[in-house]
Order: sequence, then structure tokens, then C-alpha cells
Amino acid sequence: MNDQAMPAAGEPIVPIEDRLIHPVGERAAVTPKERMTILRQLMPEQDAQARARNFEEVNLGLPQQLAMLEAERCLQCKNPVCITGCPVRVNIPRFIDLLARGDMRAAADSLLDDNALPCVTGRVCPQESQCEAVCLRGKKGDAVAIGYLERFVADWANHHRDSAPAVPTSSGKTVAIVGSGPAGLTAAGELAKRGHTVTVFEAFHAAGGVLIYGIPEFRLPKDIVHDEVTRLEQMGVRIEPNAIIGKTYALDELRATFDAIFIAVGAGLPVFMDIPGENLKGVYSANEYLTRVNLMGAYRPDADTPVLHGQRVAVVGGGNVAMDAVRTAQRLGAAAATIVYRRGMDEIPARREEVHHAQQEGIGFEMQVAPVEVIGENGWVTGLRCVRMELGEPDASGRRRPVPVPGSEFVIDCDMVVVAIGTRSNPILTTSAVGLKVNEWGYIEVDGAGMTSLPGVFAGGDIVRGAATVILAMGDGKRAASAIDAYVRGELPVAQPEATSAAI
Ligand SMILES: Cc1cc2nc3c(=O)[nH]c(=O)nc-3n(C[C@H](O)[C@H](O)[C@H](O)COP(=O)(O)OP(=O)(O)OC[C@H]3O[C@@H](n4cnc5c(N)ncnc54)[C@H](O)[C@@H]3O)c2cc1C
Ligand code: SF4
Repeated sequence: MNDQAMPAAGEPIVPIEDRLIHPVGERAAVTPKERMTILRQLMPEQDAQARARNFEEVNLGLPQQLAMLEAERCLQCKNPVCITGCPVRVNIPRFIDLLARGDMRAAADSLLDDNALPCVTGRVCPQESQCEAVCLRGKKGDAVAIGYLERFVADWANHHRDSAPAVPTSSGKTVAIVGSGPAGLTAAGELAKRGHTVTVFEAFHAAGGVLIYGIPEFRLPKDIVHDEVTRLEQMGVRIEPNAIIGKTYALDELRATFDAIFIAVGAGLPVFMDIPGENLKGVYSANEYLTRVNLMGAYRPDADTPVLHGQRVAVVGGGNVAMDAVRTAQRLGAAAATIVYRRGMDEIPARREEVHHAQQEGIGFEMQVAPVEVIGENGWVTGLRCVRMELGEPDASGRRRPVPVPGSEFVIDCDMVVVAIGTRSNPILTTSAVGLKVNEWGYIEVDGAGMTSLPGVFAGGDIVRGAATVILAMGDGKRAASAIDAYVRGELPVAQPEATSAAI
């Protein structure tokens, strides 16, 4: 770092922003003391009132000047704890240093070496509870905006990448991947790079998993996912849509045809509240609601798939899924869209940024409240009867459990209810595959290399972990690809330690 090139006594001090213009490969002349004075850059975003009625992306991305200024905030720690905070161990200071040097190509190569979908993770990772939670700069003030920088470098790479990726020489081995979410897509890319012939079987008509059917356009533009899928196809990966393994083909049929299999079917089966009135018209699971809008395009007036445009919408839950559903309802014209969550604001599991954006957009929050009945007239929802909650004694996990406050019942007027209280494993594949071991919750059991009880059949992502995060699913895809590569070559992989799981 060029800390020596400071002005001599009496020379005017050039603002740090102006020192960022320097030859590629060099660092700006910024002293350690000055570095500590640079404030965390704010993400430019669409005006809250305007975006609450459109589906365009909320965050607009840092311009290069601000990204390079933010990169200057990184201390290039000798012990970069941010790397240990990242579930896939991205070498964060390395790509930030290259960005600060203005060497965008090298920064992009460095990032893509560690993370196959940085355009996605730079937008949806819960950085505040991972890399940024442990960043040294956060000890006194704000952490380095690692997620914003990741997004900047990834978007730069996307706009500047070569037209078509190289097609590797064939290994003669074939691999089937079941499910095209982040776990499946990452594994497909890694295996294709190694020359294996990969076929991805996907139940829906489009590839991308939750990235395409769950997370809305205003958080993750679908072009980004389509581009990734197109790149995989250019590398020779074949995507077979509308193919449900366990129905269209049996797992055994795939085992007879392919040298190895990776199961990455996610955990998309909705959980309901099990309260009276849940069968009324106007009650959706968040998965169905978001799939209709995102995947089937039901927000467009000319779409074939219908969706209710509730005027007063209550969304039950406090995770990212609930936030996506409530903000979608508002964008579809709801006059009042409200989160109903049984714990307090400090315990809400959604990403902090999503909660903040929802608040800016005028979403209502009924906290420490639990639904007890969906009420209706003529078969349609007219309200959600709820009870207020308070924190009781700690449960087995040490968290104080919410308990109902006697006599506190009240009704939220609404014509639509969206249930977003979690999902679990879909049994279609797991119950039809003879000899495939699952745990008591229906998630597939794997060994340290990601192999299931069936030889040559690997699994990863949410179907192993339970509903988790994009980055953990991608990490599983990458680890499984290495293990599958070793397996098809006749070498058994060395077991890797499992990354920690994080709830969404
Ligand atoms: C609305 C929503 C918002 C979220 N927001 C965030 C966020 O902001 N940040 C974050 O990190 N995580 C978020 N998550 C969680 C994250 O998306 C998941 O953890 C991740 O997508 C899991 O990846 P996966 O590849 O295991 O499975 P999935 O993404 O679920 O993909 C599985 C794919 O397999 C297909 N499939 C299922 N069964 C079969 C079958 N039998 N045959 C063929 N195909 C099959 C499915 O159609 C699907 O396309 C969110 C989840 C949801 C639902
Ligand atoms: S911990 Fe923070 S300051 Fe240190 S290297 Fe990582 S990003 Fe930079």
C-alpha cells in the first residue's frame, strides 16, 4: 500500500475521492488514519414510494467511484476473519484489494474462483450475520460493505465476460442432477468444467429453483439467473425441464443410465398453521403465491396464470419468504399489507436490509402476535383472528418462548392471508427411492463427502440441511461436484468438514 506518497508539509491535501484515480494495479495514497475516517458507502436505491408499486430492482448498485472508496475502508487484516465468516470461504480481502487497485478483471477472476454465482449472493446473502458480522472494521463503527462490493465486482464481470465459455474435453462420464436451484446449478457448472456430461432434471418449466420461482424480481432480476443457465448450456449442460424425478422418471432409472447423481431438490413443501379457516378462499402458502407471481408472471395483466390481488393482505411469518410475499402483495396493489409475526422485531429472521426496505415501503408490522383462526364469509377470507404474545420461560434452545396473553384476541381485517411459516422436504423423490436414507424430518442423510446411503448418489442444499441459504446450497453443490468427480474417476473423496448452517 502506498502510504508513503503523502503530501509534504504545506502542500494541499487532495481529497481521498480524487486520489482514487490512479494507474491500474496501484493503491491510492491513503494513510491508515485517513482510512478509518472513510464512512461506509450507502447503496443507491429506488425511491421507496415509487418502488412499492413496481417490480424493478430496489438496490441500484454502487457506481465504480464509490465501490473503490468503500474498498479503501478494508484494512487488509493479517487475520482476515471475514473469510471465516463466509460459509464458502471467499477470499474477501483479495478481491477487495484488486478492486481498490482498479484491476477489475483480476478482482472478478478472484471472486469467481471462490463463488460461482456472485451476482446472486451479492444481492441475497445475509452478510450482516456472516462476513460483515465479524469484519474488524465493525468493531468500531460500520463493517466494510462486503456484499455491496461483491455485487459490484460480479456485475462488472457479467457485463465484461467473454461471449461463450470454453467447452472442456469430454471425460466420457455422465452425471444427472435433480433440481436446478443454486445447489444444482453450482454442481452442474463445476462438473461441466471437469469435462463430465451433465443433465439437469427440473420439475418446473424453467431452471433456477428458488432464485427463479421464490425470490422476486425486485430483489433478484431474473435475467441474472437466465444468463447463468444459458452459460451452463453453452458449456454443454443439458437442462430437461418438466421432469419430476419420482414421477416422470424413477431415481433407479437415472441410476441405470448415469455414472453418478446429485440430488438437489430443495425443501419446497409448504407448512401450514393448522388453524380453523385455513381452507377458505384467499389463503395462499407463500410458495404458491410467489410461484404464481414470479415464475408464472401472474403480475402481468396478460398472464395465463391468475393470482388474487388482495386489498388488505396479512402475511404470517418473519423470514425472507414472508418479506418477499408481503412486498409482492403491496406491489400488486394492496392498500394495506401487514406482517404478522409471533416474536419481536429483534428476533425477526429476515435479512435486516429486507426488513428496512419493507418499513420504508410502508409495510405494516404486527409483532408478538399469533393467528388463531382465519375468518370468512361465503367461503372467502374476511379477517385473521389473532392473539397477542409475550415472552415466557426459555425453551430447550435457551430462547424465551412466546406465550399467548390471556384475553388479548383481536381481528385483523383482511381479504387475503399468505402463510410463510416455513417449508419442509417434499416426499415425492425421497419416498419413491428405495434404500435412500432420510432423517426423522424427511431430509436426506449424507456422509462427509455428500454421498447418500445409495452408492454414487449424492445430495446437498436444502434437501439435506432443511431450509437454509443460497450460499450454503452453493457450497454443497461445489463440494458434491468434487466428490462426484473423484467418484466417477474411481477415487473416493476425503471427507470435508461441514459449514455451519444458518436459518433464513
Ligand atoms: C421466497 C424465498 C426467499 C428466500 N430468500 C433468501 C435470501 O434472501 N437469501 C438466502 O440466502 N436464501 C434465501 N432463501 C433460501 C434459499 O433460496 C434456499 O436455501 C436455496 O434456494 C436452496 O437451494 P437448493 O438448490 O437446495 O434448492 P431450491 O432452490 O429449492 O431448488 C430446488 C429445485 O429442485 C426442483 N425439484 C424439486 N423436486 C424435484 C423433483 N422430484 N424432480 C425434479 N426437480 C425437482 C424444484 O422445482 C427446484 O427448482 C429464500 C427462499 C425462499 C423460498
Ligand atoms: S475483516 Fe473487514 S477489514 Fe479485515 S480484511 Fe476482512 S473485510 Fe477487510
